[in-house]
Amino acid sequence: MHRFFVPPNWIDHGRVIVQGGLAHQLWNVLRLKPGDEITLLDNSGWEYRVRLEKLEKDQAEGSIVGELLGHEPTARIALYQALLKGERFEFVLQKGTEIGVSDFIPLKCERCVAGEPREAKLERWRRIIREAAEQCGRARLPQLSPPLSLEEACQMAQGWRLLAWEGERGRGLKGYLEELRSTGRLEENKEFSLFIGPEGGFSQREVQVAEDHGVMPVSLGQRILRAETAGLAAAAIILYELGELG
Ligand code: SAH
Repeated sequence: MHRFFVPPNWIDHGRVIVQGGLAHQLWNVLRLKPGDEITLLDNSGWEYRVRLEKLEKDQAEGSIVGELLGHEPTARIALYQALLKGERFEFVLQKGTEIGVSDFIPLKCERCVAGEPREAKLERWRRIIREAAEQCGRARLPQLSPPLSLEEACQMAQGWRLLAWEGERGRGLKGYLEELRSTGRLEENKEFSLFIGPEGGFSQREVQVAEDHGVMPVSLGQRILRAETAGLAAAAIILYELGELG
């Protein structure tokens, strides 16, 4: 069934009024008819099954015929991803949403070659997240923050705070998670902040800044992953460990 995130005020006392571009999409693109059903999401975590009753060019009406609490990971993963060139950042947003990331925070790093996104680009990024969330069955939209400096990001990061660094020799993500689990701390706190560098990696100074803020460098293994691969791999590992994937 087609799924769409809509503004909460479109849903009122069991009735639904769809407007603008989505009404056009239902009527003109998907060619739905009265009696057809869609799923609407208001970002509350609930999913509403809606039977359409009236479809016009710029408005559609229907009523709710069922509702259920959608599944969302109990773990929160905030991906602090350095800005990347070309379409790589969009790739991370799309795939990260599918895997189960709950927040995306673009990072401005020393070795970033990508410039800062303008408002139009942030809008496009939000659309990519929304479409991925609709397609893969998320019940809440991952949030996209405006770009932050590493210092700002370290200050606001919550939960278990990790920086993926290929230069780290002592601590691996696997061992770190095993230790959290064996000491019972993983069950207590399922929130992670994961820092991933740009194409050229974090500078020594940045690794030091993160450490000074208590963000821990971890290795993701022997191979150097590309920047757009690293965060997705790490998020998948953490969600798997928490029983949210696989
Ligand atoms: N500076 C490196 C590679 C950077 S890879 C070089 O140019 O050779 C881009 C980002 O992915 C890194 O900043 C890091 O956050 C992450 N990353 C890639 N492979 C990793 C690994 N094996 N362990 C930890 N982090 C890794």
